[in-house]
Amino acid sequence: MGRRAVRRRQRRARLALRTSTSGTVTGVTGPSNELRRNPLTGRWVTIASGRAIRPQDFATRTLAVEAERTGPCPFCPGNEELTPPALATYEGSTGGWLVRVVPNRYPAFDGDGTMRPAVDGVLHQAVHAAGRHEVLVIGPEHEGDLALLDDERIDVVATAIRERLVAHAALPQVAYTQAIVNFGREAGASLEHPHAQLLGIPFVPLEIDDELVGFRRFASARHDPAVCLLCTTLSVELAADQRVVEADDDAVAVAPYWSGAPYEMLVVPRVHDPRLHTAPVASLRGVGRLLRTAIHRLHRVLGDVAYNVVIHTAPHHHDVHYHWHIHLLPRTSTLAGFEQGTGVLINTMSPEDATVQLTDAARVGGPPPSGRRTGVAG
Ligand SMILES: [Zn+2]
Ligand SMILES: [Zn+2]
Ligand SMILES: [Zn+2]
Repeated sequence: MGRRAVRRRQRRARLALRTSTSGTVTGVTGPSNELRRNPLTGRWVTIASGRAIRPQDFATRTLAVEAERTGPCPFCPGNEELTPPALATYEGSTGGWLVRVVPNRYPAFDGDGTMRPAVDGVLHQAVHAAGRHEVLVIGPEHEGDLALLDDERIDVVATAIRERLVAHAALPQVAYTQAIVNFGREAGASLEHPHAQLLGIPFVPLEIDDELVGFRRFASARHDPAVCLLCTTLSVELAADQRVVEADDDAVAVAPYWSGAPYEMLVVPRVHDPRLHTAPVASLRGVGRLLRTAIHRLHRVLGDVAYNVVIHTAPHHHDVHYHWHIHLLPRTSTLAGFEQGTGVLINTMSPEDATVQLTDAARVGGPPPSGRRTGVAG
């Protein structure tokens, strides 16, 4: 038996000890809570995994994405006139469009303008929310999930996101573009038809600022300005082999050491590049395929769970030390008062235990990743 297989067996045994069928704690002799620091953001998270947790203890989707839709789906083929004219359309090998990019009908960021706030009195500042807000319709099918996309679709989606980021990077008023996918009402989706969103905003958000500081802090602690926090994460996690959920030649998905939520994953391309849209196309496509597998594993363990895909890429107009990556954040619980008040996350499942379940999804069971809908209208 290989080293990795032995480790995996030991981890399973540990998990079995903790998890009894009644859900009560067995074999745990004392508090095992631990504070771990997220080196990207500098924030501490609490891993409080003493309580026995099973996949079925976590919430699957129950809310309808569209409780009562009033008209036809604007993203379905045949309804193209219901959206503003497409910014880009990508055809498939079998004819018809595979991906459409359209401006959001109700943009959060729109138009031109600089980040020069007008001061109102001694206290208040305001500025026009300039930028771009675009929707990337992920396919002609009304129902679906990223886990179900074939290779061609993954490639087309990756190409579309890359080309939109190139376009945003050419706009002086867009400082940063956040690409996201919300799946399920609990994760913020308001239209059922699978889609991504790109929000080009006129400033660099604090979350990205914090991560940029994290890269600088790590390099300075290592006394090497060239050393990369996420390249190091890859080599450390692959060597430790305790939190690697999936790995191939293009990318690695880990349950981060500092996971703030159960089954959280971080997908890191092996090729170092600060930005998604300047990374080699083959690397980008590989990352897309690995993300698909990671979501697939999530569904195998948790069933029909809502999630957010958050793509982090470097700001457009700064030369920075960064390594683009993707956060996969399942919505298994809501933030409570302590977490809202302090920003300190309490995670009831250690990433090591999550990895055991995610890498052994067939044993854990649960429904196949069919993209089935629960309580969804239309
Ligand atoms: Zn539709
Ligand atoms: Zn790197
Ligand atoms: Zn990030």
